[in-house]
Amino acid sequence: MDERSLREEVARISRMVYERGLTSASGGNASARLSEREFIIKPSGFSMGDVKGEDLVVVDMRGELLRGAHRPSSEARMHAAIYGALPEAGGVIHAHPPAALAFAVAMVPLKPVTEQSEWYLGEVPVIPRIRFGTEELAKAVGEVARSKAAELKAHGIGILLGGHGAVAIGKSLREAFFSMELIEETARAILGAAALGRAPR
Ligand SMILES: [Zn+2]
Repeated sequence: MDERSLREEVARISRMVYERGLTSASGGNASARLSEREFIIKPSGFSMGDVKGEDLVVVDMRGELLRGAHRPSSEARMHAAIYGALPEAGGVIHAHPPAALAFAVAMVPLKPVTEQSEWYLGEVPVIPRIRFGTEELAKAVGEVARSKAAELKAHGIGILLGGHGAVAIGKSLREAFFSMELIEETARAILGAAALGRAPR
């Protein structure tokens, strides 16, 4: 995909994340790999709900600005660490989906309790709470992503950030979006089953 089309795709999927209630306010960010050395990401301070293709910025594999009129997202380094760890990753979404956020706050990993999550997501681990936008967070997420490299061949990857939110990774941004939807769906299924007195073990 050329830069212009990929910018539109990142903006379109960002708006879908917001419209489906998977994030709120200016929280969350989406990115897509443009080449071996560059990716496109949402700028800092923009909501995923109304970001446009021309607002997005192009950054290098350290998350430093290459092209664009705005400051890259504070989580650009985290996205960079994921692309560095996973050469096959084509898209990354970070969001604050409400049910999954409950698991992230409680520091409980998501088990693949449904057929969909077993086949297309796998277990979603949770990393300890680390201040957002830091190199430390980028490094921790990059390490977990690297440990799941084999899974990315089969399906998307999910990671919960303690007390913060979720990260979904795909071979394409579309696959990352589906993974984010599955993360939230799985979290809701577990909470719903628990409300029925049948929490999965
Ligand atoms: Zn966040």
